[in-house]
Amino acid sequence: MSMFTTRGIKVGHDKRTSTLQPVRIEHCQTVTLLMKQHIGAPCKPAVKLGDIVDRGQIVGDTDAALAAPIHASISGVCKRIEMIRVPSGEDVQAVVIESDGEMRPAANLEPPKAETREDFFAAVRQSGLVGLGGAGFPAHAKLRSACGEANILLVNAAECEPYITTDHREALDKGDNVIAGIRAICAHLDIKDAVIGIESNKGDAIEKLRALSLWNSSEGLKISVGVLPSRYPQGAEKMMIDSLTKRTVPLGKLPSAVGALVMNIGSVAFIGRYLQDGKPLVSRTVTVDGGAVHTPMNVRVPIGIGLRELIEFCGGLDHPPAKIILGGPMMGSASPNLDTVISKCNNSLLLFTREQAEGESESACIRCGKCVAGCPMRLMPCVLEAAYRTGSTEILRRRDVAGCIECGSCSFVCPAKRELVQRMRMGKRLVREEDERRREAERT
Ligand code: SF4
Ligand code: SF4
Repeated sequence: MSMFTTRGIKVGHDKRTSTLQPVRIEHCQTVTLLMKQHIGAPCKPAVKLGDIVDRGQIVGDTDAALAAPIHASISGVCKRIEMIRVPSGEDVQAVVIESDGEMRPAANLEPPKAETREDFFAAVRQSGLVGLGGAGFPAHAKLRSACGEANILLVNAAECEPYITTDHREALDKGDNVIAGIRAICAHLDIKDAVIGIESNKGDAIEKLRALSLWNSSEGLKISVGVLPSRYPQGAEKMMIDSLTKRTVPLGKLPSAVGALVMNIGSVAFIGRYLQDGKPLVSRTVTVDGGAVHTPMNVRVPIGIGLRELIEFCGGLDHPPAKIILGGPMMGSASPNLDTVISKCNNSLLLFTREQAEGESESACIRCGKCVAGCPMRLMPCVLEAAYRTGSTEILRRRDVAGCIECGSCSFVCPAKRELVQRMRMGKRLVREEDERRREAERT
């Protein structure tokens, strides 16, 4: 058995929205479109104050290779262009559009030409797609880098984080788009093997995907379903590759180093649909859950909608939220308030009550070793944390802090509630900054 199938931790699932089909928000008053909703270079506004915009029109773009354009998610007028502080603490430029209530689509939206490989990459770039599982890597750049390297496509439907059910719904509701996306990606990258990886706790989706895979496999393309154990974090790229292919991605390398291309199921379904109708990425499904919200549900939202407007759609708040998380409880980002917006990467909004959020104050490490046993990458989080606190980049390097996939398992199991994953992130940054200083010194 692969080392990764036995590593990781058991977490509560709390996926009570998995039976709820997404409900679409047809109208919203305002959207705030961040010019950076992806890994890479920020976009520059392509509209100015007072411009009338249509839904699907590009409002931000850049010439940088690692980026994806931003499209208007409603029709209306450009009211402001301003700097917004996002939950990570970064200040990001944003285009604010006030709705005219029409949701008028842009006139030039039509299925893209995708006859050649270059056409296909250009179309995916034009669609604005970034990894919808939360990573936000521009999809065209991922596909391009895997070209000629990957011989297997892994469709990530694991959705191992508690609460979130958007991928589960994608499998149940958009199976045909998933298959169309797999076909297009495999045809253009000359891949003959696709596996949909999904955790064993999603029986209805497994059944549906298995039937679709069987009907749509051919001599030139084998599609199958790989059932993963329900252990967190099975959805982490490296774990999924190891579990489904028994290939181990070396430290510091990308999945393409072992011939794998991993894409989130929502991203694959989006490609399948986009090639048919040419509608860019202007909306996404978000799971809204937690004890503080009146009606937990899956909602199809215009990208850039404010949290307050989204919560209002879900019946408002029953309690003041003590903790607001964008993304899952393990890897999501906490927001200090509701003054932020949904971006392309946000698959979930969690609003926890005081009882759900309590018990989070840190105490001293009791050296129980639970973080070591729970780490899927076989790291020693307690040792790395101590190294970060003393600023020892030598120990951080020797103990492979760069191998941390920031899954949050160590923080979850720690009885002392130590914020280990945050310190892993900061430890990695410390090492990166030291590397940059060295390179700079060598240059001068
Ligand atoms: S050290 Fe990193 S990879 Fe290991 S459990 Fe913690 S967050 Fe996950
Ligand atoms: S789990 Fe927490 S208390 Fe236990 S060794 Fe790790 S850091 Fe220390």
